[in-house]
Amino acid sequence: MLRGVRAVLLDMDGVVYVGDRPLPGVQELLEYLETTDRNWLFVTNNSSRTPAQFVEKIGRMGICADEEHILSSALATASWLTEQYPDGIRAFMIGEDGLRWALEREGITLVEEAQAADVVVSGIDFSVRYERLADATLAIRAGIRFVGTNSDTSFPSERGQIPGTGALLALLEAASGVKPTVIGKPNAGMFEQAMRKLGTTAATTLMVGDRYETDIVGAIELGMPTAAVLTGITTEEEFRTVAAPPALILPGLPELLDAFRQADR
Ligand SMILES: [Mg+2]
Repeated sequence: MLRGVRAVLLDMDGVVYVGDRPLPGVQELLEYLETTDRNWLFVTNNSSRTPAQFVEKIGRMGICADEEHILSSALATASWLTEQYPDGIRAFMIGEDGLRWALEREGITLVEEAQAADVVVSGIDFSVRYERLADATLAIRAGIRFVGTNSDTSFPSERGQIPGTGALLALLEAASGVKPTVIGKPNAGMFEQAMRKLGTTAATTLMVGDRYETDIVGAIELGMPTAAVLTGITTEEEFRTVAAPPALILPGLPELLDAFRQADR
């Protein structure tokens, strides 16, 4: 299966690093992909960082990438909004630098008064305050469109699993009675944007991820080959017992590199 793979999408949290701790084999795998003429892209549901901040973070871990190698759910959400509203849009945002940067880059106007917005957009916000959640809730209840970057209820940190965007969206949903439109994995939009960026097709693009219900489910639905690594959220037993398991279940990226070498031999 790997022999026919022409491009690789790699999740970041739980695949490349856990919190600030780098995981082994990343740079070696990327170099191998480049030597064998395969394209690659980091595809992350983490909306908190800008591409430059991601590049800086992994650079400190000895991983060479440039900003073009990053597709975050913040970037995917901003692109999606621009496609939906080509004439421009005002957004009330709950999020960090990554989402702010992505929305502004697309020319989306950020407003501080939620009721004056066309859309309420939420990613992860590590210092969100009750008043802001109240403003967002009232706007959504008043009929303003509700969009979320991703639905991960938690994400891996050195301390264990801590609340993710999905937990924040669940709060807003509970308070407003409205479900958000979510752009990040496992939704097709994010994978499709990634493949468009690389100019590849589903059948020849491998998705590598640690979380079954986002990385793997979404990719399988699009007909992409998948490889699961055990360095993040989902356990080996969980991967093996799901109805549609990933094609490969591997301890980590060093084993994926070995598998590529074997396949190419
Ligand atoms: Mg992950």
